[in-house]
Amino acid sequence: MLPAWAFALVRIAGLLAVAVVLGLLFDSIALWVALVLGGMLAAQYVNLFRLQRWIRHRADEEPPELRGVWGDLVGLISRIHRHKNLHKRRVTQLLREFRRLSAAMPDGVVVLSAAHEIVWFNRMAASLLGLRRKLDVGLPITNLVRQPGFVDYLRRSAAGQGVVVRARGDVFLLLVVIPAGAQYLMLVRDVTREARLEEMRKDFVANASHELRSPLTVIAGYLDQLADDPELGADWREPVADMGRQAARMREIVDDLLELSRLEAAAEEAPFRPVDMAGLLERLVREAAAATDAAPRFVLDLDPALLLQGNESELHSVAWNLVWNAVKYTPASGTITIRWRRGAGGGQLVVQDTGIGIAPEHLPRLTERFYRVDRARTRSKGGSGLGLAIVKHGLQRHGGRLEIASEEGRGSTFTAHFPARRLLARVPAVTRVS
Ligand code: ADP
Repeated sequence: MLPAWAFALVRIAGLLAVAVVLGLLFDSIALWVALVLGGMLAAQYVNLFRLQRWIRHRADEEPPELRGVWGDLVGLISRIHRHKNLHKRRVTQLLREFRRLSAAMPDGVVVLSAAHEIVWFNRMAASLLGLRRKLDVGLPITNLVRQPGFVDYLRRSAAGQGVVVRARGDVFLLLVVIPAGAQYLMLVRDVTREARLEEMRKDFVANASHELRSPLTVIAGYLDQLADDPELGADWREPVADMGRQAARMREIVDDLLELSRLEAAAEEAPFRPVDMAGLLERLVREAAAATDAAPRFVLDLDPALLLQGNESELHSVAWNLVWNAVKYTPASGTITIRWRRGAGGGQLVVQDTGIGIAPEHLPRLTERFYRVDRARTRSKGGSGLGLAIVKHGLQRHGGRLEIASEEGRGSTFTAHFPARRLLARVPAVTRVS
């Protein structure tokens, strides 16, 4: 069979030949050729018209019965149409399945655009965050979840472990924002139960520590009196002194627990009050040197013009724990260097010692409560095992973080990083000349 195009050409040629023959017969070739060409043109127009009408009402009508190139064209269009329909049905089915799955998910899911605008959300997200489908799509998520903790988390675009926010009433939600190509996927989970348990734990620790403090103070006081009593028998001197030391240790643990509880209870960020860090560190080094019989050598490198905005007593506690650890774990022949300066990303408080150092496997766990590298050794040095946990929490309240570098037997460097927004340059005193 001839292909459609060849057949069409042969037909045109045949018709023209007939026109020429007729023209020769009737002595007017031009007229007959014109008549034949006009007839062919009319036939094309009729086909074009039928095709156009069919395309327009394609869904309702059978395809027109056309032959040749026109027939091919109708077949092609029919095929494309069938493909498109199939594809559409498949996409619709996928979408329906995705909706069913996302509706069955126990967590809320919100798709955010690159500019953090709501693109789509499932039913659970709508109920947890109180989103309304028609009204809230296209709005920035921060218009609806306004908690500063979340806004800050989103700005830092740090997926990490997410952030817990308090929603309507007493509902706590964990929000995790995960970058997904040019968009973000936000997972929303109701963590009210976990948050309540965590609250109960904090309350329990705070209450228990508080309740233990007074009896301990009384016991320690009597033990002090007893130790000073000249009538105390020689056999009892050492046990009483030991009891006094243990009571003091328990006081230290209880005080540190209370301090940690206080830091944890203060959910908001620390205030922005200027603190003279250089002055604070100088005082603190004097206190540390006075509190030990054989203190290592201290080297201070402090920028007196650089102020830190925060809570002075919390910053004192952070610095004290770092400096006191350095004193505890550095021999008297060693050196402790303390720096306070502006670094690349913000303020840096560096406490560097030439002490015993820490093996690398312990470094990630050092800020856990009661984590000690060598229990027997650290117990003899005193300390609650809570110092670095206090440092971590104190820094978090100031938007900071702790970096630890250490080499066993050579020494350790603890760097507290503070964000640049917390720094303030001291304005030099201006002398007025009149
Ligand atoms: P502790 O009260 O026992 O010192 P911390 O939380 O302050 O508790 O420190 C946890 C552990 O980290 C310590 O027990 C100690 O083993 C180790 N550590 C802390 N600082 C230093 C340091 N400067 N040099 C060596 N080890 C240290």
